Amino acid sequence: MAGYILALDQGTTSSRAIIYDDRARPIQISQKPTVLSTPKAGYVEQDAMQIWHTQISCAHDAINQAGLLATDITSLAITNQRETIVVWDKRTGKPLAPAIIWQDRRSESWCENLRQHKVDGSEMSMQQHVQSITGLRIDPYFSASKIVWLLDNHPNLKDRAQRGEVAVGTIDSWLMFKLTGGEHVIDITNASRTLMYDINKLEWSEDLLAKFDICKKILPKVIASDGDFGKTKKGLFAKQIPIQAVLGDQQAALFGQGCVSTGMAKNTYGTGCFMLMNIGHEVQLSQHQLLTTIGWQRRQNSPQLLGGAAEHTSLSKLVKSGQRILTPSKREVTYALEGSVFMAGAIVQWLRDNMGLFNKSRDIESLAKEVESSEQVVLVPAFTGLGAPYWRSDITASISGMTRGSTKAHIARAALESIAFQTYDVLTAMQKDSPSPLTELRVDGGAANNDLLMQFQADMLGVPVLRPKDTEITAKGAALLAGITSGLYDEATIDDSWDLDKRFEPLMPAEERDEHLDKWHQAITKTLQ
Ligand code: ADP
Repeated sequence: MAGYILALDQGTTSSRAIIYDDRARPIQISQKPTVLSTPKAGYVEQDAMQIWHTQISCAHDAINQAGLLATDITSLAITNQRETIVVWDKRTGKPLAPAIIWQDRRSESWCENLRQHKVDGSEMSMQQHVQSITGLRIDPYFSASKIVWLLDNHPNLKDRAQRGEVAVGTIDSWLMFKLTGGEHVIDITNASRTLMYDINKLEWSEDLLAKFDICKKILPKVIASDGDFGKTKKGLFAKQIPIQAVLGDQQAALFGQGCVSTGMAKNTYGTGCFMLMNIGHEVQLSQHQLLTTIGWQRRQNSPQLLGGAAEHTSLSKLVKSGQRILTPSKREVTYALEGSVFMAGAIVQWLRDNMGLFNKSRDIESLAKEVESSEQVVLVPAFTGLGAPYWRSDITASISGMTRGSTKAHIARAALESIAFQTYDVLTAMQKDSPSPLTELRVDGGAANNDLLMQFQADMLGVPVLRPKDTEITAKGAALLAGITSGLYDEATIDDSWDLDKRFEPLMPAEERDEHLDKWHQAITKTLQ
């Protein structure tokens, strides 16, 4: 079957559209930056219309630049920055406020207040209660507190929400509203990041919505990751393209990295750092400060019998003819454990933009190589607090251990090391939760292109780090799922299209590694005091 998949990848720093051919190879990419604004300390916002405009123009550019027509596109896939919240007018489709980005901390006091509460009539803390329902933690990172802030602080919004005039959604939801011309839907992996979705019962949690005072009317309908999200509206492209896969960016990366078996893990080094491990089909709550999240919900791979004899006959005919038979009711959820680190590539951006240490992100590698070690310099990148496994939003970043001889090269090296140290801490926690030891780590994201960082990472973790050739793995994951849904690809395409670029073996002597880790943990202990 010939055809192409158009994957939209709406990230924190840019919108991208990538076209994949019938073997899941990327043939064209179009990318446009998006602007983040930080109007106040702790605030991080984006213009939702800019997100939409950059995304749709990338989609058109990618099709044109590939020399294709929209009629060549079999299926559209979406992957997106998660947790970010957009609120818009259902009738006009216009945003009612700037999008509140996942990094935004303005709702910390609401979260802190909630954390102090116990569940009515019991000794259970609200934190435990929320974790048991959502798999997450009470933290400004997740969408619920951002929605509460909007409802409380935006004039008339609560009243209008009660009247059913307002829609709220994550970025996938916002893009789908615009793409389809009015569908208010969300993919289940994105829903699982909102702090309002019950990952056991697979529905919005009425209990939490009542506790948070969020009316269900404003929320989108939840759809499986390979479900029917609708088609692009007439006139947007030369053809109405079906949207056949939607995954939050980290879940898409897990899928794109081929981590489809229990125990496999990947780490994405983008703005933040996100390690996810496939834990199979049962919910498992972390005992070590990690998150449990929905990896995907999709049709089972194997043909399902539909019931009676007549159907059985037609089924076997169809199986013989090579068609896949799928019963929509047989969708299965795969769960993941996740360690989210807020600042990774963003530390590099900070050194570039706020400190002016170099011009391009990739220049950090040559600068860091000017010195053989960071010596005693440690950068604790708590610029927006620390995420997993520390979860402290009240602390700030620091650079310590500097001497008269310290240079910007030492700071650059310490910055890269801090990314690897944070990943080490997350993996250590994950190993405690997971029954099987990790044997390798698959990596992707902008900063995974940094060889110095990847080697140091392998040295710290003590397991090989594997970087695929295609580091646009987020878009690829969504494209793979859309390709499988539409019948353009089969399951084997997931493995067949994964090509190794470089394998980083752990080489550092144990003693030296321990010295590095001790230095880091001492600095962390000081920061947490
Ligand atoms: P996102 O999808 O979160 O926008 P990307 O995966 O595109 O992020 O990665 C971009 C991030 O990676 C930026 O923060 C950038 O500073 C960082 N980055 C890009 N190239 C390198 C590099 N060679 N070394 C270190 N960091 C890099």
